[in-house]
Amino acid sequence: MTKKVLVLAEAKNGKLRNVSFEVLTVANRIASDVDINACIFGSNAENYSEELSKYGAQKVYITDNEELKNYTPDGYKQALLQVIEEVNPDVVLTGHTSIGKDILPRVAARLNAALVSDCTDVEMDNGIVFTRPIYSGKTFQKKKVNDDLVMATIRPNNIEAIENPVNSETIKLLATIKDLRSVVKEVVSKASGKVDLSEAKAIISGGRGVKSAEGFKPLQELADVLGGAVGASRAACDADYCDYSLQIGQTGKVVTPDLYIACGISGAIQHLAGMSSSKVIVAINKDPEANIFQVSDYGIVGDLFEVVPLLTEEFKKVINETKTLVE
Ligand code: FAD
Repeated sequence: MTKKVLVLAEAKNGKLRNVSFEVLTVANRIASDVDINACIFGSNAENYSEELSKYGAQKVYITDNEELKNYTPDGYKQALLQVIEEVNPDVVLTGHTSIGKDILPRVAARLNAALVSDCTDVEMDNGIVFTRPIYSGKTFQKKKVNDDLVMATIRPNNIEAIENPVNSETIKLLATIKDLRSVVKEVVSKASGKVDLSEAKAIISGGRGVKSAEGFKPLQELADVLGGAVGASRAACDADYCDYSLQIGQTGKVVTPDLYIACGISGAIQHLAGMSSSKVIVAINKDPEANIFQVSDYGIVGDLFEVVPLLTEEFKKVINETKTLVE
């Protein structure tokens, strides 16, 4: 039976987030013949509909109320409820991002719908089967949900975004937004993060072993060479070596890059919860018994202050050689 799917897309700094294309790819798997709808909120939302249609969105609902320029739980909840009423979907999907994990439980609770959060895979097998990590990522659970209305958040960087261009219709919806309990007056971004941590393909993470804020510099240099981002363990954040926005783990961000290099991180379970599903894990640690080596594909026993600069130089050479070959 055809499923009607609604995807809540997200944009950041004037660009659609890659996770929105990944979520649309999931929608394509679920709704094999028709009815993939997307919605996006905020000013200039119209600019995004063409790109969303490249990934299969047949109808794009845009709501560019001034009140939705910045995310607020109340504003987005009201707007999403109104789009849901208009579309009447069987499935509502969005990315497992700060916004996604905040908004979808609110809306699911309001509509008494099923909610599956932080899915790493979705497939059809006589119904929709969601895969999600449990016990801090130690194992994965497959969940079939038969409720009339199902909502799910999809973990970024897990499902390859596949284009599926379709003709799309853009529908403007002026949402009624009222009684906002919070208003965002200004968003001040941190200058540090050049690449979004949750969508980075390579992450160089530092722990207590990095020893100081200064110690993070060689990690940033390696991240720059690889076009990646810098992350951290909670111990490094607690010690004020870096900002909490870089924390990876159970109480930080959950990431799934292609390459995760853990430098001076022991591998506590709470840290592993945030990075163990990375595609390739490299650990650099002085202690050969460190737990991080248990989850690593490659382990280097050594001093990170010697190893990281050597890696940076080697990567520079390889990347330059590859460029020369391509040219
Ligand atoms: P340590 O465990 O102190 O390890 C430092 C490592 O650096 C050691 O293995 C050492 O051998 C190595 N080292 C030292 N010097 C060098 C060098 N020069 N070269 C190479 N290696 C070196 N932690 C998180 O990371 N994320 C979370 O989200 C998180 N949430 C938590 C939630 C709760 C409820 C609790 C209780 C804890 C949480 N923690 C979290 C903390 C977690 O338990 C660990 O304390 C923390 O991850 C340890 O960080 P670390 O590996 O950097 O430090």
